[in-house]
Formats: sequence, C-alpha cells, structure tokens
Amino acid sequence: MVIDCHVHVSATVMPHGRMSRQLLKSLPFRFMRWRLGLDPEGPAFDQELGILLDHLVGESEVVGLDAAVVLAFDAVHDRTGRIDFDNTHLYVTNDYAIELCTRHPKRMFFGASIHPYRRDAVAELERCAAAGAVLVKWLPIVQNFSPADPVCEPFYEALASLKIPLLCHTGGETSLPNLDKSVADPALLLPALKRGVSVIMAHCGTRSKPTETDYLPTFVRLAKEFEHCYGDTAALSLPTRSYAYETILNDPYVSRKIVHGSDWPILPVPPGMKLRLADSIRLWGESNWLRRDILIKQKLGFDQAYWDRAAKVLRLTK
Ligand SMILES: [Zn+2]
Repeated sequence: MVIDCHVHVSATVMPHGRMSRQLLKSLPFRFMRWRLGLDPEGPAFDQELGILLDHLVGESEVVGLDAAVVLAFDAVHDRTGRIDFDNTHLYVTNDYAIELCTRHPKRMFFGASIHPYRRDAVAELERCAAAGAVLVKWLPIVQNFSPADPVCEPFYEALASLKIPLLCHTGGETSLPNLDKSVADPALLLPALKRGVSVIMAHCGTRSKPTETDYLPTFVRLAKEFEHCYGDTAALSLPTRSYAYETILNDPYVSRKIVHGSDWPILPVPPGMKLRLADSIRLWGESNWLRRDILIKQKLGFDQAYWDRAAKVLRLTK
C-alpha cells in the first residue's frame, strides 16, 4: 500500500479550526487559493477542500497512490498549557480531521496534532489513538515549543506505548509564521528517539531558505544511529530543499529510512538539474500536485521499498 504520510488541510470555521487574517493574506496562501480555485472566505470552503482532496487522491491511484494521511494542526499553547490564539495562524482540530477521514474512509487516514504543553496532551493522544490516529504531527517552530523540553516526556512514553509514530517538522519553514526558529534542529528529538518513539523527521532537516542552518547532516547522523528514525520527502522538490535528493537517494543506509510524503498543497517543482528537460516540461503540465509529486519522485529513481515504507512505519495494512 502506497501512503502519502504528509498532507495538509486547512479549516476556516469553528469547530473545524481557523486561519488568521495574516495567513489568509500571505502570498503562499493567495497563490494556493488561486491554484485550487477555492475561496477560503466562502461559506463552504472547508467542505469543498475535503471533497477536492478526496478527488485528487482518487486521481492519483493511476500512479500508485492508495491513500493520504490528512493532518490536524494544533493551536499554539504556552508552557502552562494555555491556548494562545493570538499567535495561532493555522488551527485544524483533531475532531475535524477525524470527521474528514470518516467521510472519506478509503482515501484518508487520520494524522492527529497535539501540542505537548497541553495539560490533557496524553489524554488527547489516547482519545485520538482510539479514533484511529496513525501518527501525531508537530511543527515546533510554528507551534512554539521545544521537543527537548522535559514536559514532553510523558507524551513520548505514551507515544511509545501506543506505538504511534511522531511526524515532526525539522529544518526551516516559510509557509507559516515562525515563532521560535531555534527549535528547528532534529537533534532536539533525541529524547523521543531514546524513549523508543518512531520519529519521522519531516523534510529531513533541510533548509527552506539558503541563509538557514542546514540540518540535513544531523538528520543523516540520527537516521544512522537510531533504527526507528526516519525522514520524509515532503516539499523536497522545492528548489531550496532539493539538494537533499543527492544524499537520500545515494547513501545506501539513509535511503532505507526515507518515507513518502508530499506536503500538499505545497507546490512540487520538477528539479531541473536532476531531470531531463523534456521530463520537466511534461511534469509541469501535471495539474494534480499530489500526482506530480509522485511522478517527480518516480523519475528521480526512488525504489519500490520507498513507496511501501510509509505504510510499514505507520503499521497500516490493506
Ligand atoms: Zn507540512
């Protein structure tokens, strides 16, 4: 079974979630909105986005995709566990992600998101696990916490005992406002790895801008050191991140730790330096970005074990 482990949705009305005005007005979101042909300020945006995503996954069956993990996105919380809406730009509740996956059971798996500073973090994890969560998604630089904070330890223990992998953003990020850039380092996930949590390091620690620190070498070191440390290929076709393909395709040990993820609706850019011109032109013509992302990675030469790996790590069987 081929799974895309990293697909985002947004939500605009409570109790589904919310988006800040700042995010709605930002260039990347205006571009996506134009590209998807949906109006986030329209009354049926949330529902239309769910239907569109189901359709795009269905259209990607011909290139081998079976289903996508649809990610909730928790609000910012402070260290005392209080929710901080002023600094929350994207919020997608677990209940809404559950609802979407229930509505589209063949093509969507539930990716929960639980801020580790929440007082009910472990209880919420247990609730999400019972509702079918296949992973937990974090984006520390945007959700404003450190994965190395000792407050996270009970959460790691619960993840390990429930055998739920943690999909955690590593490296830079430009689509969402950053609250704390110092927590981009994959090494901050050491406490989770040491407790036996399967960690998928989203983006393999790559830079989102040339001026940022490159954490790819840190990811490589951790992937070699810990059996249960993985990296995903989400957004790696962006020109700023595509330098990682060289390492993750050619290092024989690291290539065995890479799982498929797109980061939809982030634009997949055919990496011109690594593909023939005719292939790049053809890939630009593919309008379904989930499918384009797969076609790019097929052309780059990812092997069958790569395509099958996400389902294994997430313990999914047909
Ligand atoms: Zn993402």
